[in-house]
Amino acid sequence: MSVVDRIAQVGKDRVPFSVEFYPPRDEAAEARLWRAARTFEPMRPAFVSVTYGAGGSTRDRTVRVVGQLAETTTLLPVAHLTAVGHSVSELRSMIGAYADRGIHNVLVLRGDPQGGVHEEWIKHPDGLEYAVEMVELVRELGDFHVGVASFPEGHPRSVDLEQDTANLVNKLRAGAEYSITQMFFDVDDYLRLRDRVMAADPEQGAKPLIPGIMPITSLRVLRRQCELSGSQIPADLLDRLTEAAGTGPEENRDEVRKIGIDLATEMSARLIAEGAPCLHFCTLNFAKATAEVLTNLGMTARV
Ligand SMILES: Cc1cc2nc3c(=O)[nH]c(=O)nc-3n(C[C@H](O)[C@H](O)[C@H](O)COP(=O)(O)OP(=O)(O)OC[C@H]3O[C@@H](n4cnc5c(N)ncnc54)[C@H](O)[C@@H]3O)c2cc1C
Repeated sequence: MSVVDRIAQVGKDRVPFSVEFYPPRDEAAEARLWRAARTFEPMRPAFVSVTYGAGGSTRDRTVRVVGQLAETTTLLPVAHLTAVGHSVSELRSMIGAYADRGIHNVLVLRGDPQGGVHEEWIKHPDGLEYAVEMVELVRELGDFHVGVASFPEGHPRSVDLEQDTANLVNKLRAGAEYSITQMFFDVDDYLRLRDRVMAADPEQGAKPLIPGIMPITSLRVLRRQCELSGSQIPADLLDRLTEAAGTGPEENRDEVRKIGIDLATEMSARLIAEGAPCLHFCTLNFAKATAEVLTNLGMTARV
């Protein structure tokens, strides 16, 4: 089943949500991932996505985890795939590997240069320049349902929001069925992106624009995630979190977590009221914080 069909199906009787995992590096992380997957399973998320490490560094692990999710759980897995560091023939073989494991939902991304999102992008000599080309490639290769990334604050390398929006619209026109946004902390940024896409092309604007939400549980982890993704932490939020974290050698995670869960709950409630099609939670392979937000929203009680 496609992500879009699943969202429509789930959306008939409750607000759909989805979760994002990353492929684990060791046994302890592996155990944590499967605990999280088993916790979420009875809550019936619309889908679960599994990230793809920079430059294909998690290639085998991503394929194995999405395969296992498809084979051993009732969850609908979505495999991320990035173009960075891959030739077209390597990308073809990755897509073949997903198909062999029964995976037909793929989130296609360009990926970031090794040094991070702000480093100069250098295309693989036999690879692709932009994610839009990968949308075309994946669709050409068979029966795949493709999603893409979107950026409420604009992609960190983009200088012009209108051009950035046009690039998203191009990916949707090329056949992407939905997009998932980068994490953000100001709901107005999401709403403005939705308005820009709708104004640029109402047909593409009707496709699901799924907000990415990260329940904050640690200031240190948040800073790291924002450094990697290029997302901005609004100044007032950063002040509150810094004060809550305290000045001791270890941050006061209980206080930070409380602000993070309340914020994710408030943002989610507003996004639901504004008609967001699905809430996508970046879980970092922990179920507890996301489950707490869902409970606050009354979304787990309806399971
Ligand atoms: C939901 C989500 C999941 C992610 N998962 C992963 C993951 O699993 N692994 C990972 O490594 N990274 C992941 N990323 C990060 C992503 O790879 C980076 O943000 C990357 O920098 C952009 O990827 P893209 O697919 O949006 O690229 P593109 O759509 O190719 O855009 C890249 C830049 O080029 C610009 N652009 C696009 N087309 C054109 C054009 N024709 N002319 C000029 N400029 C153009 C865009 O505006 C943007 O600035 C994820 C991001 C999101 C939002």
